[in-house]
Amino acid sequence: MHYSEGAQWRPLFETTQAALQIVIGCGHNVCKFCTMYKGTRYRMSDRAEIEADIDEIARFWIVPPKRIFLTGGNAFGASQDHLAFALKLIREKLPQTESIGCFARVSDVKAKTDEDLRELAELGVDDISIGAEGGYDPALAFMGKGHTASDIIEQCARLDTAGISYSLFYLAGIAGAGKWKDNVRATVSVFGQTHPRRIMVHTLTQFPGAPLLRDIERGNFVPEDELDILRELRMLCAELPIDVLVLAAHYGNTVPFNAWLPENRDELLAHLDRVIDRGNEDALRTIRKSVKSM
Ligand code: SF4
Repeated sequence: MHYSEGAQWRPLFETTQAALQIVIGCGHNVCKFCTMYKGTRYRMSDRAEIEADIDEIARFWIVPPKRIFLTGGNAFGASQDHLAFALKLIREKLPQTESIGCFARVSDVKAKTDEDLRELAELGVDDISIGAEGGYDPALAFMGKGHTASDIIEQCARLDTAGISYSLFYLAGIAGAGKWKDNVRATVSVFGQTHPRRIMVHTLTQFPGAPLLRDIERGNFVPEDELDILRELRMLCAELPIDVLVLAAHYGNTVPFNAWLPENRDELLAHLDRVIDRGNEDALRTIRKSVKSM
């Protein structure tokens, strides 16, 4: 397989799928907290390499994969022509594939026409993972996400219409100290107007090389305490008004959990309350320091 430099990162729920590289790097690459693709030039994969990789999957997977994950920071942002090339080849050479996922930026969806989205749905694209991170405009703007809360609502509605399902990332701690309630209130309102299959929770971590570190040094951003991050997640899970699976088992969360809302809500909130009531900020910070990558 032709996996190039840069991260080959996938959401946890995609790790059992076949991974096919169709783009390298991230076409945005300026989010302040992210170090994932720093130093990697964003580009489309060579088409001969894509074809060779699809042939390799067809030849070597004993049980043909029912789902393919297109790697790269935002494969959905590839040109329509490039995406259609890869998707048609998958259909031709891996006919048992039932769906194809990838990372998408909100602005990638915005850049596609309704006709583009319909074509992608027809070619098997479904259950994509979108780096929304939250619905609080000041935090989205500060971190350089390149989309607004209303963009999230509008573009998710367009995906709903096109028949492409999606999951949304939520980045706990994105608003900084003292702002988590504003962040959660805005996010509950925004995510509550969408229909995600999952909300995938990560927690803001200060990784070496992240542009955010300069803001912290200059006093432009004060990170949230770990206990406040748990209070933030508690409030989010208490108030989300949609039926959704919350996946927060990533090792970058100090209290990993997965929960269906609303079914598991009471149990989850009681669990978070027990940890919050212990009040052991130092222990949580020790866990945070052990987190070395996204
Ligand atoms: S968070 Fe996502 S969109 Fe932002 S730079 Fe990292 S990979 Fe790119």
